[in-house]
Amino acid sequence: MLHTDGAPVTKVGGKSLWPIQCTLVEILPPLRDFMDATMVLGAWLGGTHPSRDLLWSKIVEQIHELFKTGITITADDGEKVMFAIRAQLVTFDLPALAQDCNIIQFNGYDACSDCDIHGIAIERQVFYPFSKLPSTPKTDRDYMTFSLQKSMVKSIKGIKGPTPLTRILIFPDQIAKDYTHLVCSGHFKTLITYWERILLPGVFDQGSNYLISIILPHSFKYQFMPLIQYHQWKTKMVRLEYLYIN
Ligand SMILES: [Zn+2]
Repeated sequence: MLHTDGAPVTKVGGKSLWPIQCTLVEILPPLRDFMDATMVLGAWLGGTHPSRDLLWSKIVEQIHELFKTGITITADDGEKVMFAIRAQLVTFDLPALAQDCNIIQFNGYDACSDCDIHGIAIERQVFYPFSKLPSTPKTDRDYMTFSLQKSMVKSIKGIKGPTPLTRILIFPDQIAKDYTHLVCSGHFKTLITYWERILLPGVFDQGSNYLISIILPHSFKYQFMPLIQYHQWKTKMVRLEYLYIN
């Protein structure tokens, strides 16, 4: 399982470190996320986004090679054990997803990595209208063919160009969804804005009081804020709030 994220390492000069990490899915959680068990396959340090090809192409090439050869480990008694290697999925946050997969940003038109739904702009935000009929799914073939098409348009169905990742992963099935940002801090925040407008006065306050009455364990290192101040919530709070309300 591959993972990449942009973690700011220093505020001076605004440099960020973009590591590519790898975890072994065969190791059960939480052990697989322990420092001893994760691998760093590569990293990019810079003030700008990493170059997609520089960051991924050599790593992808080696992983692709391992698909064919596997890894053979010789035990102390001389016995050889062969391990087959497969990539199960890759996880990104939303900006890294668009950058690394060479697709449209999450706030643009045709931003769904899974289907052909087309967004419409209302004021300055792009909305995806509800439809009883699901849109046509995007396929791995779409990602392969549209990314290679040399055309004057910036993107076809949100696909802007090639990415090394199509060599080792089936698009879009093996690209994980960033639930925290898409649902918890994205859609859920929009919902609260609607609720604030449509709910009777007092209902919002009651919800607020309920949330404030909850005492979170000290390991969370924060407590809930009143619903009224939802503009100031951090993503992790919105996520938990969302889970509580449901
Ligand atoms: Zn979709």
